[in-house]
Amino acid sequence: MVVRMRRNRSQTAKRRSHHAISGARTVRCECGAIRLPHRACAECGKYNGRVTIDVVARTKRDQRRMKRKETELRASGQTSETKEAEPAKQ
Ligand SMILES: [Zn+2]
Repeated sequence: MVVRMRRNRSQTAKRRSHHAISGARTVRCECGAIRLPHRACAECGKYNGRVTIDVVARTKRDQRRMKRKETELRASGQTSETKEAEPAKQ
């Protein structure tokens, strides 16, 4: 590199002055929860005033899947102590 093209410390710092990352932008949903903009709300499943995600059905499905996994673990004879600890946290 030619000396003429060399960037000094000041020029590097000036360029990097725009590199800082700001925090994630959030908006408040009409249900009161904080959500990401242009995303459906995880709490009530609404987007743009309409219900796009059936939250109740999703929770039921997750519980059903969790139950099935636990029964499979018991049937295979493995200890499910770590698996049982996870739902307790939620
Ligand atoms: Zn919401």
